[in-house]
Formats: sequence, C-alpha cells, structure tokens
Amino acid sequence: MKTIGILTSGGDAPGMNAAIRAVVRSAIYYGCKVYGINRGYKGLLEEDLVEMNLSSVGDIIHRGGTILKSSRCEEFKTQEGRLKGVKVLKKYKIDCLVVIGGDGSFNGAQKLSELGFPAIGIPGTIDNDLAYTDYTIGFDTAMNTVADAISKIRDTSSSHERVNIVEVMGRHCGDLALYSGLAGGAETIIVPEVDFKVEDICNRLKTTQKRGKRHSIIVLAEGVGNANDLGKEIIKITGADLRVTVLGHVQRGGCPSVFDRILASRMGVRAVELLLDGKSAKVVGVKDNKIIDMDINEALSMTRSFDKETYEMAKILSI
Ligand code: ADP
Repeated sequence: MKTIGILTSGGDAPGMNAAIRAVVRSAIYYGCKVYGINRGYKGLLEEDLVEMNLSSVGDIIHRGGTILKSSRCEEFKTQEGRLKGVKVLKKYKIDCLVVIGGDGSFNGAQKLSELGFPAIGIPGTIDNDLAYTDYTIGFDTAMNTVADAISKIRDTSSSHERVNIVEVMGRHCGDLALYSGLAGGAETIIVPEVDFKVEDICNRLKTTQKRGKRHSIIVLAEGVGNANDLGKEIIKITGADLRVTVLGHVQRGGCPSVFDRILASRMGVRAVELLLDGKSAKVVGVKDNKIIDMDINEALSMTRSFDKETYEMAKILSI
C-alpha cells in the first residue's frame, strides 16, 4: 500500500478542490493512504499534515479556493529546505507527492524528484501560462469571471459614454486577457505577446468616436504594465473620459466552472495512476481534450505559443 502526500502551492485557482478530491478519492479507491499537507511547501516544512479520508473531500467539488490552503515558501527554494521537506515526508512514511500549482510549484516538485523523492505535478493556475498543456485548472472559471466583469463594466461605460480600461491577471501570459476580452466584446485587447503603441489605441478611439461610438473597453493584461499609467497617457492624447478597473483577486475566486471541475477530476485521477505505476518527475496536462503526462523537465523547458490567430480575429471583430 502506497502513501501519497498532496499539497496546493503558489497562487490558488478555482478547481483546486476538485483536483484534491479526485486525488484523495481515487487513491483511496486503489487502496492507498493519503496525507493532506496544509499551506503548500511551508506547511510541509512545519509538519502541518493531516490524514485524509473519503469524507475529508466531501462537499468541496464546487468550492473555490483550496481546503488545503496555499502559500509561498522561500525556504523550499534552498537545498536545505528541500532536504528538510524530504525528512518530514519520510517521517510520515509518505512514498510520493502530488503538487497542485503553477510553474513555481512545479520547480519545487522537480527538485524533489532530483532528490529521489517521487513527485507529480497537476497544473492549477488561472494564468494558463504552462506551455505543455492546453488548459490549466482555474483558467476557464477565471475567464468567465473576467468576461462577466467586462459585461458589467460595459453597461456603465455605455451609459456614461466612457472609455474603460480593465486590467486582468495572467502574469506574462495574455490568454486570460485575450479570451475574456473576446468573449466580453472588448474593443481593444493588449497582451504581452504582441507589441502595441499607445498612439494606435488613441487613433482607434478617435476613429470609432467619429463613427458615433462613444464608449470603449480596453482589456489590458497585467504583464504589459499598469492600467493607471496607460489611462493617463490615453487621457493626455485624446482627452477621453476614462476610468480604470483593476479586477485583482476577484479573478482567483468563485465557484469553479463545470469545465474546471471535470478537468481537475480527470487530471487528479491520472496523477494517482502515474504514482501507482511508479512514475515520478511527471506533470499531467490536457492536449486536444486527451489527458496527457510529460516529463517535468521537458514541460518546464517548453515555450508557450500565443494564439495569434484568435488575437487577429478579435481585432477584426472589434472593428
Ligand atoms: P506558482 O506555483 O503559482 O507559479 P510561485 O512561483 O510563487 O507560484 O511558487 C510557489 C512556491 O513553489 C514557492 O513559494 C516555492 O516554495 C516553490 N518554488 C518556486 N520555485 C522554486 C524552485 N526553483 N525550487 C524550489 N521550490 C520552488
């Protein structure tokens, strides 16, 4: 009988609970014991562990956040910290670890594997910034949250004939801005993957205003820069009546979408199957709607390609 440890780490994402549930339930189904490690690597180093059973994960598939809590842990970035972590895992006779998080958390899992401790990564981040997988858990929910916010801002933007800049998360990845911007009918979408000129945005605003359209939504990915700074520049050039909304952490919360719950369930089960197969240093993902797994080093070395086609299409549609 194997004993599996599970933790959530880094930025939280809706659907992490569904992934925890899938790991715990499938592990117990296959006859394993499971320890939940609270507060990510920090909790591991502080020996904050609890044995989980079927009811530990009852009534959570639809809940945002993570019942195991999440944190960031500088100490785990050091070799001493990680050796301390392995010692704790061995003390509890844990054979292998499932890490749910983003690329930072995967780096931690990769380093653990290098120390000979089997670890598997499940991608949980609203940023969708991992190249090896089409989707990360939480991205779909966050897209819907942002699209909903844009629709609401659009109502007031239209009433007051204003320009609104909506700053969205995503770190260096423009996916959240692109797809939620497209779904929300944004007039302009600015992402880190495509260069832009403030003058071009201002010219577009002037052209549409001449046509009689007095309101406009600009979706700005946080990786490009600060929405307030951009707003000031646009006001200076156009004199527009402009407001800025930084959506912030609302994007990380909420009830996970059906898509995220199903994705998390599928990925969680695959992670357990990999560990039962004796696999280590792997990450689980989804490609063309098939659950895949990949060597963690290979996955982390991949460069994300941006969906330029959809970006160009969004531009055409917002003419
Ligand atoms: P995310 O997993 O969402 O990308 P972070 O980048 O903040 O979030 O990483 C989460 C945690 O993963 C860090 O606080 C640290 O404990 C661990 N981590 C990140 N990078 C490394 C690394 N190079 N080696 C070991 N652990 C790491």
